[in-house]
Amino acid sequence: MNTKKEKVNILFAAFEATPFFKSGGLGDVAGALPAYVKSANYDIRVIMPKLSVIPQKYQEKMEFIENFGVPLGWRVQYCGLFQLKHRGVTFYFVDNEYYFKRDKSYGEFDDGERIAFFSKAVLESIEHMQGFVPDVLHCNDWHTALVPVFLREQYMQVPGFDNIKTIFTVHNLKFQGMFSDTLIENILGLKDTPADKQLRLGTAVNYMQGAIRYSDIITTVSPTYAEEICTPYFGEHMDGLFNARRDSLYGILNGIDYKEYDPLHDKNIEYHYSSKTIANKKNNKLQLQQELNFDVSEDIPLYAIISRLTEQKGLDLVTYILPQIAERGMQLIVLGIGDEKYEEAFRWYAGQYPNKISALMMFDAALSNRIYAAADAFFVPSRFEPCGLTQMIAMRYGTLPIVRETGGLKDTVIPYNKYTGEGTGFSFTNFNAHELLSTLDNSLDVFYNNKKDWRRMQIHAMNTDYSWNQSAKVYRKLYRQLAGK
Ligand code: ADP
Repeated sequence: MNTKKEKVNILFAAFEATPFFKSGGLGDVAGALPAYVKSANYDIRVIMPKLSVIPQKYQEKMEFIENFGVPLGWRVQYCGLFQLKHRGVTFYFVDNEYYFKRDKSYGEFDDGERIAFFSKAVLESIEHMQGFVPDVLHCNDWHTALVPVFLREQYMQVPGFDNIKTIFTVHNLKFQGMFSDTLIENILGLKDTPADKQLRLGTAVNYMQGAIRYSDIITTVSPTYAEEICTPYFGEHMDGLFNARRDSLYGILNGIDYKEYDPLHDKNIEYHYSSKTIANKKNNKLQLQQELNFDVSEDIPLYAIISRLTEQKGLDLVTYILPQIAERGMQLIVLGIGDEKYEEAFRWYAGQYPNKISALMMFDAALSNRIYAAADAFFVPSRFEPCGLTQMIAMRYGTLPIVRETGGLKDTVIPYNKYTGEGTGFSFTNFNAHELLSTLDNSLDVFYNNKKDWRRMQIHAMNTDYSWNQSAKVYRKLYRQLAGK
């Protein structure tokens, strides 16, 4: 009997992927998961736009494959296809300077058109991948939500395409891609097809709604979030749709890239450590305290936030208790960019308490790693959190997260139990600033008065496996099952 498994081909489509471009967790996922899935029996490749923000050193190494036209409504747009191998995975880059040579990668006036172009280009590119035809097309978030729609409505006649199966992963339901319904005819070229009705939401077109309806399988990034999005509170008006497709909806926890986030080898930090040499961690803290002009002492708790500064991240709770934070003998460092109201609040308090609160309103990946390594504890009090990577990265660095019990935060952080001394962080249930404050106080109490439990939690957090290994196995199984191989 031949037990050799057939190879499964997967094309992973995303608008961002590390190390080329990242604005949040999606970039981490697209940069890491394929490298973990790839093996002798799984040929997984990634396709993303050739954004002008991609560092020059990568742009220079890209190899041009071909150029061709991409039909978009009544027009045909130029598309160049490039490739580059990174960590053993082939990345394809879709080039069109009109759409992708921009100062901002997202939030442009013509996002509806740019994204439609990218989705169409993904399908057109397959014919130029020198023999690589995916069994599974794995699309991520609203930027690739039209791929399954175009595939079924416009590409079934292409040889081999009728066998392609689709997975759509919801990384964040808040962003669905809603535009005027005039795009359906003018840009998407889908007027009077079944998709016309399926994509429409009142006088708008909703790209993600299309993916939920057209994909073979839908996944989201944690088991708890998969449950949550079936309820009106978290469903963002799509809970009915998710309920209707519940049999095809899976919650698969994200992991983090253990090569990129590794306190023992991280090039961004000066003092390396593992769970066995965790005493070295404090040197990173002392160094950062000094740089920030904080009082320098191992005994002063240093808490951190690294986040997009948006309502989702529960920053209303944090800004509400900033006066109390300033009164405590603790220090707070905030690294983030986002809504003006949060940036202003953090800046104002940092101005008032310069030796206790630091507001670094910027995006800086290298600095983020130094903060993960330096901090004692880390706030993630999100209103909702599909998975959340920052709490896992923090735990990997022995920094204890304080989280609200929602989505992936609930699935990854074991709350401290004062009777057993067990746990990997602290958590609270309700979206309420006083609950956050009392959880903060509980954590401070352990920090000051129960060093043994604190250390035990750090070690437990560091020794828990948050890598992609587990989830990659689940994805592989899903890919194979879908491919029918
Ligand atoms: P989301 O995708 O909702 O923004 P995640 O927790 O899934 O949240 O992922 C956020 C990622 O972005 C993490 O890798 C985090 O370290 C990083 N990040 C967020 N803000 C910044 C910042 N200002 N500078 C550097 N990295 C940041």
